[in-house]
Amino acid sequence: IGKMPLHTQIFIAMLVGALLGCLMRFGIPEPLRYTTGSAWVAAPLIGLGKLFISLLKMVIVPLVGSSIVVGIASIGDSKNLGRLGIKTLLFYTMTSLFAITIGLVASNVMAPGRGVELPETGTKAIDPSTLNTPGSPFEIIFRMIPTNPVQALAEMDMLGIIFFSLIFGITLTTMPSEHRDRILNFINSLFETMMKMTGAIIALAPFGVVGLVFTAIYEIGDLKFFKALGAYFLTILFGVLSHLFIALPLLLFVFTRKSPIKHFAHMRNALLTAFSTSSSSATLPVTMECVEEEAGVSNKISSFVLPLGATVNMDGTALYECAGVLFIAQVMGVDLSFFQQMTVVITALLASIGAAGIPSAGLVMIFIVLDAVGLKGDQVGVIVGTMLAIDRPLDMLRTATNVFSDSVGAVIIAHSEGEIETKPS
Ligand code: ASP
Repeated sequence: IGKMPLHTQIFIAMLVGALLGCLMRFGIPEPLRYTTGSAWVAAPLIGLGKLFISLLKMVIVPLVGSSIVVGIASIGDSKNLGRLGIKTLLFYTMTSLFAITIGLVASNVMAPGRGVELPETGTKAIDPSTLNTPGSPFEIIFRMIPTNPVQALAEMDMLGIIFFSLIFGITLTTMPSEHRDRILNFINSLFETMMKMTGAIIALAPFGVVGLVFTAIYEIGDLKFFKALGAYFLTILFGVLSHLFIALPLLLFVFTRKSPIKHFAHMRNALLTAFSTSSSSATLPVTMECVEEEAGVSNKISSFVLPLGATVNMDGTALYECAGVLFIAQVMGVDLSFFQQMTVVITALLASIGAAGIPSAGLVMIFIVLDAVGLKGDQVGVIVGTMLAIDRPLDMLRTATNVFSDSVGAVIIAHSEGEIETKPS
């Protein structure tokens, strides 16, 4: 649709969908509202939304699998993977868990989705007895290990796919280059192709959003739901900003005694690029330049820590996965038990590792976390769809946080390798 930026298109689509939804819901008197005549108009619009969600789900398996293998394998050969690799992966996991905890607490305290009562019209609400209820945290771990990776692929067992891809990627780095390169070249090309395919599907978002926002109003049509959506937006905003401006600077200071304010200044170009592109991958060259030229990290460390970080370390996304799923559960009136929330924490971490560094990847990944606790069905699709309508600003912030976290990681790792002196620069 011309040269208009995608987020403007999505915004317009949201208005169109809302207008059509209001017309069909409030413009038609009650007895006629859901009759065949109006359904005849509504069905294609509802179908448009469903079509878009199906397209998004279609890319998840190959995108996630290849993204993880490429990310891990960017470490190079196993000589690097030793101490430095483990240190980096541990650090990245720690910051992501930090972020998820913020999301978990914020969602439970602010409870943005509480008090919405979804009507039973059209799409079916969730039956709590169909939810996955792990008996213990060990069960979550056991569920991660697929007994048959091919079956995991076919049945879209995302935990299994992510686990296998991680181990596969790590093993690949220990292979002699004749084997490694052959497989890696292939998976790299697969990954690039999947990124392009996802981008093309996301470009269709305006159509999907018209359908999904229409469906939300036509079938849910409850002002409380849209108020809740606003509260959800604020919860994520609050969480991501706390991580970006409090938690990460604190970590930087604790580990290196460096001034976080200076580091923000060093990273300003990368942050702005991340914010405007909503893509960690597209920002990577700028991140490397800032980290090397401004923050004084050697190319040896940055070229190892940053490409890995751009695909596997996504704090903003991790926080978002957790808070987003808790929001959906609240809207659906489902009380998640402690173990279920732990499942959300672990899968949110894995989903953020598996997310590709492209716009809206985080939203696509949310299906994985939802699936892990058994939240599925048409109504879930409609809620995710309306979340998509307001996702762009959140995505910009997530991406800036993801990139900033990578840069903090690079500086801390460089410092721990004795590259950067301790006194504040
Ligand atoms: N756009 C984000 C990134 O590239 C991923 C996400 O959607 O959360 O880092």
